[in-house]
Amino acid sequence: MPFNPDSKYDVFQKSIAIEDFHKYSEEYVIRPPYQRKNVWSKKKKKSLLDSLFRRYYIPNIIIREVRLGENETVSEIIDGQQRITTIQDFFSDKIRLPSSLKDLNSKLSKKYYSELSAKFRRFIDKELMFKADIVKGIEDPTNPEHQEIATEIFWRLQQGESLNYMEKAHARLSSISRNFIVKFSDDITFDYQEYKPVDENENKHKFFNIIDRKNDRMQHLMLMTRFLLIEDADGATDLNNKAVEEFIDEYRREDGVGDDSFEETKLAKNVISNLNTFYDIFKDDPILDEENGLKEFKREYMIISFYLLLRHLKKHYVFEDKEKEIFKEFLNYFYNRWSKKNDDDSNILNFISNRQQSSNNVQIRHRILRLIFFNYLEENNHEILPKDSKRQFNEAERIKIYRRDNGFCQKCLEEGVAEKEAKVSWSDYEADHVLPHSKGGKTEVFNGQVLCKHHNRTKSNKLEKSITNN
Ligand SMILES: [Zn+2]
Repeated sequence: MPFNPDSKYDVFQKSIAIEDFHKYSEEYVIRPPYQRKNVWSKKKKKSLLDSLFRRYYIPNIIIREVRLGENETVSEIIDGQQRITTIQDFFSDKIRLPSSLKDLNSKLSKKYYSELSAKFRRFIDKELMFKADIVKGIEDPTNPEHQEIATEIFWRLQQGESLNYMEKAHARLSSISRNFIVKFSDDITFDYQEYKPVDENENKHKFFNIIDRKNDRMQHLMLMTRFLLIEDADGATDLNNKAVEEFIDEYRREDGVGDDSFEETKLAKNVISNLNTFYDIFKDDPILDEENGLKEFKREYMIISFYLLLRHLKKHYVFEDKEKEIFKEFLNYFYNRWSKKNDDDSNILNFISNRQQSSNNVQIRHRILRLIFFNYLEENNHEILPKDSKRQFNEAERIKIYRRDNGFCQKCLEEGVAEKEAKVSWSDYEADHVLPHSKGGKTEVFNGQVLCKHHNRTKSNKLEKSITNN
């Protein structure tokens, strides 16, 4: 019997008039979710038009048939994005024919489509074709296996361009951590409901405006993944490419395509909260505009180290307006020292020589930066208050507080409520921090008070608001 392994899809050949891509452009999904937005140079576009008119060989367009309804399909372009965009630009008078065509006919040179006479337009509309390979049998956009096969075809065609590890991970549409990373750090996005690419991603976190890094090879997505790894490990950890890839693979789910649920995880929330704080600290820096971020945040290892410092401070110290101001000044101070690279500044030299992403490097940098930060505080007579590590009053303390306050809600008394109504029964009573724990309030009897349920609730609501606003 012949050896004949089964294929996961079928391929049919078809010629498509190039005019179709313009006339029926809604039927083509030019940038599928796993693709990038990349732009051909004018020279490349003109060279394609030249080849078409000369009827030179042009590689086949690869199209996947995607079924959106019982009687409805769209054509997803797996390969050929740039060729089709060029054709669309030509039909809508955005580019002219190249002057190189003048040897075919002088009336073609440098002409827009609408300027051409009927005989040329007829030739273009009726004669010029792209050959296409139509892939069928993997048409369900909600089926992760189908999406992964399409992505796989795309990768294999891109081999010559060699995707980096993040670009590969980006294509793992069924990973819910990937979905989170793309949603909050990519420039572009994809609407699965409409099955359409979206060119502006309005969910992208503003944090990326304050850093001075490009995103042309998904640098922002890499950073976001590294922040998640840090939250996952609750501190400095291995941030190498392999760890990034594994983190995205680990969260592959059978029905993960388009799944947003990762946002609800604690690590995702922590990252967003820390990025909010970052943005809040630096958002008014005069250096910021549409093109420029903070020059101090150009290098990834620097950004990561400051991220680690910030989360450390937020976790263990009172971190409010004054502390944010100090953090901002410290970046300035540190950057000055860092850029001088003095021979006798061993901390800075050590920081720089550990700029890689291994667990060891990340940890050493984190230690050095903390050391320099706390020395800086001392030298400048700044003080930041540690949060008391003990959060809850113990039984003995609770009794002492209750006895001292005679079991009366202190807020009720303040508001002049009658003693009878201000009374809190022992079983309803929870000892409250007068100065909140999150603001450095100690868990000691002098900082405790009796509150009724009502006042306890209104106080913690207020506090929560002020925390989420940070
Ligand atoms: Zn009360």
